[in-house]
Amino acid sequence: MRTGLMGGTFDPIHIGHLIAAESAMEAAGLEEVWFIPTNTPPHKPQPGAAARERRDMAEAAIAGRPGFRVEAQELERGGVSYTIDTVIALQERDPEREFHWIVGTDMMNDLPNWRRIEELAERIFFVCLSRQGEESEESSLPEFLRSKLLAAPMPPIGISSTDIRERRRSGRSIRYLVPSAVQDYIERNGLYES
Ligand code: ATP
Ligand code: MG
Repeated sequence: MRTGLMGGTFDPIHIGHLIAAESAMEAAGLEEVWFIPTNTPPHKPQPGAAARERRDMAEAAIAGRPGFRVEAQELERGGVSYTIDTVIALQERDPEREFHWIVGTDMMNDLPNWRRIEELAERIFFVCLSRQGEESEESSLPEFLRSKLLAAPMPPIGISSTDIRERRRSGRSIRYLVPSAVQDYIERNGLYES
């Protein structure tokens, strides 16, 4: 079973993540996509919302979409989230599945810096979605990565969680940038207000 893994801080999840997952599914023929909220990102400030809140928002965003689910492996493991550890754990649990890690161009460009990237590339495939404003550096990636990578088209979406947090801080609307259930959750819990 070909399964997509979409890792992210999801602080909060937005329609860019969802359209990326849909596009990856179509391009790589994935049967399922699992959204994996990061516990502590290796090279990023601590998330603004709590782990529980980021997970709840991801659940709310995908509710009713067959084949999408939230995988809490990194939150339950705790500590700094390295993709290699996540993939090893998922493969031990589910040795028959073929995993495809989904990334936007910014993350794809960073792949050579990921922990134990050569071992990771032996274990899984990568699907890369073009992200508006992020130039692809695919041609400068090492061959062992390029050979495991599928570049997939996606309508360019210039939305980031950073922008959504900033909008909340300054009291601007986030309507339609996130699914309405996520917007409700954010407003009900007063997330990202200051
Ligand atoms: P932040 O601004 O906090 O970094 P983000 O919007 O970049 O948040 P992440 O949770 O960091 O979201 O990203 C998770 C994954 O989704 C990454 O692989 C990222 O490249 C991809 N992604 C996020 N937004 C988009 C988008 N608008 N188009 C394509 N890919 C995206
Ligand atoms: Mg990001």
